[in-house]
Amino acid sequence: MPEHETDIIVIGGGTGGYSTALRAAALGLDVVLAERDLIGGTCLHRGCVPSKAMLHAAELVDGIAEARDRWGVKATVDAVDWPALTAARDDIVARNHRGVEGHLSHAGVHVVRGSAAFTGARTVRIAPHGEWTARRGVVVATGSRPRLLPGLTPDGRRIVTSDDALFAPGLPDSVLVLGGGAIGVEYASLHRSMGARVVLVEAADRLLPLEDADVSRHLTRGLKRRGIEVLTGARLERAEPYGDGVRATVRTPRAERDGMRALDVERLLVAVGRAPVTEGLDLAAAGLATDGRGFLAPADWSRLETAVPGIHVVGDLLPPPSPGLAHASFAEGLLVAETLAGGSPRPVDYEAVPRVTYSSPQTASVGLSESEARARAGDVAVNTMPLTAVAKGMVHGQGGMVKVVAERPGGRVLGVHLVGPHVSEMIAESQLVVGWDAEPADVAQHVHPHPTLSEAVGEAYLTLAGRGLHQR
Ligand SMILES: Cc1cc2nc3c(=O)[nH]c(=O)nc-3n(C[C@H](O)[C@H](O)[C@H](O)COP(=O)(O)OP(=O)(O)OC[C@H]3O[C@@H](n4cnc5c(N)ncnc54)[C@H](O)[C@@H]3O)c2cc1C
Repeated sequence: MPEHETDIIVIGGGTGGYSTALRAAALGLDVVLAERDLIGGTCLHRGCVPSKAMLHAAELVDGIAEARDRWGVKATVDAVDWPALTAARDDIVARNHRGVEGHLSHAGVHVVRGSAAFTGARTVRIAPHGEWTARRGVVVATGSRPRLLPGLTPDGRRIVTSDDALFAPGLPDSVLVLGGGAIGVEYASLHRSMGARVVLVEAADRLLPLEDADVSRHLTRGLKRRGIEVLTGARLERAEPYGDGVRATVRTPRAERDGMRALDVERLLVAVGRAPVTEGLDLAAAGLATDGRGFLAPADWSRLETAVPGIHVVGDLLPPPSPGLAHASFAEGLLVAETLAGGSPRPVDYEAVPRVTYSSPQTASVGLSESEARARAGDVAVNTMPLTAVAKGMVHGQGGMVKVVAERPGGRVLGVHLVGPHVSEMIAESQLVVGWDAEPADVAQHVHPHPTLSEAVGEAYLTLAGRGLHQR
């Protein structure tokens, strides 16, 4: 017989798990949260937070170069003190960590530190502490880890994952980043800002292959302008130790003509995606199994509930359309907690979840790409305008674009795609526009402040509503 009882057991204390636990506790439920490592999970310790802290420092370095080259400010970067930079980063992580632990404790969530495994559909053993029965349900939130390629074993020094890159003793002089998704692009951008020679290799024919083609085009142009070598349609054939670094052999689309590319770099950073984590969970004991790709798929997406009643899933363990993003996992946590508390919350609207890449230039999108919209809606209205069409875009001088895709004629906005400085902060209004099924004319009623970059977004909507001022 299990020794303990509770209303809900949450397995995994990352953003998906801790948000479920906090909301369930706020709704008056008894919650046990099992975590075998650190509360906060990938996002807080190895993902969103530390990477964005370092990208902020990278922006400052870029700003000094811009000040010197464009604005006559006599400034130079003497050196990047990596230990000081990582200490500042780690301080932000530590403060966030204490904050989340404090919230959980304040909410009365019982955090149990240990590895959890199912012993039945409602029973979970958390080693070495004992076994719990959940009166209402169990939430699986065990997240993901870096995906690895066969024959390419990270050694934490020359061949690294995004996890290792955080804890490396210093920055490399040269890096080959394998993978042109958000994580690869962000790390390529970061290393370039810090002065490294960077080659970015992507197997698909464009970077961020799931985004709108214009996003990939503008991003690639921006990265190349910064001196990053971008190889698309390219595959890593071999990587072997070479001196203090790695010799990588890459097959590019020109391999038949020019032969393979040999690239000698100090570090090879593997960023080819994330793999779901389920080992040690004993899903079979609960009557569960993963899908062919290792994800735990819900039978009912509106409740994120598996085929076994009372067992729910949140976060990176979910297959698409869940996007593997922290803010999506927060929404999923809220949904599952409210469901288990007896409510009927609205399902997560995955199409209205924004997607951001915090590189330089940044990208931010919500909704459908132009090609997805054409496939679904047939005739669409598309308005693309450069960020430099507005005064603040010229001040920033970094190029970029705003693209709005709407149903024709005068129909709902289906997708919004931004590239350029600060677009991560500019996507919020468009996520409401897409989420609320608004039309360009609805947005065109609302005045954007001048001069701002967001004015370009307002102008793009104005033009689609037939009222453009600065765009013909
Ligand atoms: C480099 C990088 C940058 C990123 N940047 C962003 C970003 O800018 N914005 C964004 O939205 N997302 C970003 N992400 C993605 C984001 O980190 C994930 O979507 C998010 O962390 C998923 O949360 P989760 O709760 O599903 O899983 P995780 O955060 O992985 O948490 C799962 C937890 O479960 C625990 N666990 C696993 N198995 C067990 C078990 N059997 N028993 C007990 N505990 C267990 C683990 O120890 C872990 O703490 C980034 C990811 C990376 C790697």
